[in-house]
Amino acid sequence: MTDAPSRPNRPVYLDNQATTRCDPRVVEAMLPWFSEHYGNPHSVEHVMGVEAEAAVEDARAQVAALVGANPNEIVFTSGATESNNVAIKGAARFAGHAERRRIVTVATEHKCVLESVADLAADGFEPVFLPVQPEGLIDPEVLREALQVPTLLVSIMTVNNETGVIQDIPALAAIAKQAGALFHTDIAQAAGKIPVDLSGWKVDLASISGHKIYGPKGIGALYVRRRPRVRLAPLFSGGGQERGIRSGTLPAPLIVGLGEACRLAQAEMDEESKRLATLRDRLLRGLADAIPGLRVNGSMAARIPGNLNVTFPGATAAELMERVPDLCVSTGSACSSAAIEPSYVLRALGLTDDAASCTLRIGAGRFTSPADVDYAVAALAAAHAGAPAPGIEQLAKA
Ligand SMILES: *Cc1c(COP(=O)(O)O)cnc(C)c1O
Repeated sequence: MTDAPSRPNRPVYLDNQATTRCDPRVVEAMLPWFSEHYGNPHSVEHVMGVEAEAAVEDARAQVAALVGANPNEIVFTSGATESNNVAIKGAARFAGHAERRRIVTVATEHKCVLESVADLAADGFEPVFLPVQPEGLIDPEVLREALQVPTLLVSIMTVNNETGVIQDIPALAAIAKQAGALFHTDIAQAAGKIPVDLSGWKVDLASISGHKIYGPKGIGALYVRRRPRVRLAPLFSGGGQERGIRSGTLPAPLIVGLGEACRLAQAEMDEESKRLATLRDRLLRGLADAIPGLRVNGSMAARIPGNLNVTFPGATAAELMERVPDLCVSTGSACSSAAIEPSYVLRALGLTDDAASCTLRIGAGRFTSPADVDYAVAALAAAHAGAPAPGIEQLAKA
């Protein structure tokens, strides 16, 4: 990496768990597939289709390589929301009226997993939502206990999007396998951030999102194990693309972008992790020095390097954000229709509603500089003391 620029970016973007900037190298790789190479990758009776198909298959191999899969186990979707829906509802609908009716997930999963599981109650399935321990980790004994009842599917995310906490997926998948259940994991926040080996982990289904790994929005993938073969009922009717699991013309430009994003993530993961851990530690040290009583939520040991989730004593997240308009971070609260509710993830870790409402998620990423982190520390410290945050221009002159 080059030295820190003297001046932070504007605005300072520290919300890399919500989305990431599409890497300029990814944009570059995509461009020709929008314009001169616009063939339909399914029109393989002519040269334009064949070249698009070849690009899609190259990208499929790049996605597979990042997560320890075979290319023929990767199904392209519109993102992790769709992948989670297809995995959970598809597995349940394929099983139909089999005796295994229980579907087990965890209270801290992404909304699209929780609601996919909850929706299946209407089809006669039995949703079970397991608690987590105060650090955000699942007690394997609690999973084992839940699987005493014959279970169709277990869905547990690898990395949590609010806290960055990493579950021990190989151990949890082994428990599910032993009980005869399928195992699905949402790896939207894990792929490209920590080593993922789906075939070694004995996972059956896994969900990937392009825009969490410096790729484009609106593209993702679902890993569907081949050996032993996992069967899913498709949610879309149509041309039967993607082994019949996901009908619809493949968006070749976005797929090329996802592939390039995976290739870059794999090549740069080691170095990037070290750099992000240094930035995250600098952020935490700066905030903790300035703000007595600051508390980190979620395990620091089992956590991806870029994420911090911190509770500020005596100031709400909304107040802080209002005082630092140049800083993009997340309050972690879900705005459902008109009401703002405190984060259910933080509640599941045992935070009170008051503590949750005083909490920010701060996520460093590939394009975060040390100057960005220093600005965030100065601005949040000032905001916490009740002062307006220093402007970026002011800070850069200082
Ligand atoms: C972002 C995210 C999703 C949703 O992904 P999309 O590609 O935006 O649909 C699902 N799960 C987790 C953990 C995420 O972080």
